[in-house]
Amino acid sequence: MVSAKLLADRGHEVVLLEKRPVPGGKVSAWQDADGDWIESGLHVFFGAYRNLLGFLDSCDLSDTFDWKPAEMIFASPAHGLASIRFVPGLPAPFNGLTGVATSKLLPLRDKLRVALGLLRPIFGNQQYIDAQDNESYAAWHLRHGMGKRSLHDVMDTMALALNFQRTDKVSAKLMLTALLHFAKETGASKMALVKGSPHTRIWTPLIDQIEALGGRVELKHKVTAIDYDPVANRVNGFVLDDGSTIKGDLFISAMPVHSLRKTLPDSLYTMPYFANLKQLKSQPVITVQIFFDRQIAGVDNLIFSAHTHLSVYADMAMVAPDYHRGGASIMQFVVAPAEDLIKLGDEELIAYVMSEFIRLHPIAQEAKLLKHTIVRIPNSVYQARPGVNQYRPDQASPVPNFFLAGDYTQQDFMASIEGAVISAKRCVERVLQRVERDTIEIEREALAFTP
Ligand SMILES: Cc1cc2nc3c(=O)[nH]c(=O)nc-3n(C[C@H](O)[C@H](O)[C@H](O)COP(=O)(O)OP(=O)(O)OC[C@H]3O[C@@H](n4cnc5c(N)ncnc54)[C@H](O)[C@@H]3O)c2cc1C
Repeated sequence: MVSAKLLADRGHEVVLLEKRPVPGGKVSAWQDADGDWIESGLHVFFGAYRNLLGFLDSCDLSDTFDWKPAEMIFASPAHGLASIRFVPGLPAPFNGLTGVATSKLLPLRDKLRVALGLLRPIFGNQQYIDAQDNESYAAWHLRHGMGKRSLHDVMDTMALALNFQRTDKVSAKLMLTALLHFAKETGASKMALVKGSPHTRIWTPLIDQIEALGGRVELKHKVTAIDYDPVANRVNGFVLDDGSTIKGDLFISAMPVHSLRKTLPDSLYTMPYFANLKQLKSQPVITVQIFFDRQIAGVDNLIFSAHTHLSVYADMAMVAPDYHRGGASIMQFVVAPAEDLIKLGDEELIAYVMSEFIRLHPIAQEAKLLKHTIVRIPNSVYQARPGVNQYRPDQASPVPNFFLAGDYTQQDFMASIEGAVISAKRCVERVLQRVERDTIEIEREALAFTP
């Protein structure tokens, strides 16, 4: 959507093909029969998301977010709620370090070990962090003497929020990149949620703007194959599920990597650039919403939890003004790791989520469950596992008229919305370079034939 808008802004004729009846991909939302919004996933936006914020600003959508205090609230069956609050008014990294020092989350000994262990990334640079990609974060953390308590009570929670897996599965680069942003930029830790449904607040106005610029946004148009000519090394078109082919000059795939792989012809896999895509696997996750007759958590912010499968959750009726509904609550849970849970039937899954929620908030057993919704995503973001970063592709492919966008392509914000936006901007930059080169080429050829 970002690529389409940026290209339409520059006078290009764009056609955007989306396989689902709703736009927005992993940030989509749609209404059920009662008119309640079902969201693909709970999304938090950070002050560090400068490209996303700048893009929304340029589209007159800067009023999208409800900003919350920069505070990470952790729930655990053992200690209830405890938080790390980035101290307002202090510059980074002192706002975060003071937050850790004053938090009840860890004993003093562990706080000191964390502060010392993170000195290197705090004062290091992206190059140092990139070099840590081959190790799991858990191994890196323990090697730097920070111990198991902070790993399991704090860092696992972060890994689950970032990549839906614990620290033993994700690369050190993923975690250190996020920590580096918080440590270097004072406003990076500011957190926001969309004021209501992303459908109303983001996608509908964006589609209107793309269409006003002459672009076409075609929902329910699934790309099934990429028509590639190996002799000319050119993409001729995108084949759709109704058998038709969409023609064009330049093509961008903004599909997730598992969907892109299904559409590529064998002839492209002979190139290492495309063969490498097979190394990128996707992580399952589940979003569960439970509507209760009353408020339970009483927190106007996200809540993180490492010792249950409710990795991040929030009361949407509290955090998003458009969803306010008088004293009732809409608890939205990101359920992860989801490898085993995704196979459960609806009733079993809801019973499991409820049992975990009651462990964290015993008062929930007194509330009346009004209804629930479940969104299973078997292939969500790419797994940022150790050693995988090298296989993420640049946005310009070796096929001169074919480009890739999406969070899995090369950019430093890994699997996130900011990452997806950066990938789109880099993709457009490469498209424009290509168009410029082609234009010069055409002009040169025209000159050559002038008698
Ligand atoms: C539960 C959950 C919670 C998350 N929370 C956060 C968060 O708090 N903060 C954050 O920054 N990030 C979060 N993320 C990650 C974030 O949502 C993604 O990184 C980002 O949305 C990826 O955008 P994308 O454009 O790369 O891919 P997508 O959003 O997946 O978009 C790809 C689009 O391609 C379409 N498509 C696929 N196949 C085809 C086809 N064959 N033909 C046509 N169209 C096709 C899809 O339908 C989809 O609309 C979360 C993700 C999930 C699942």
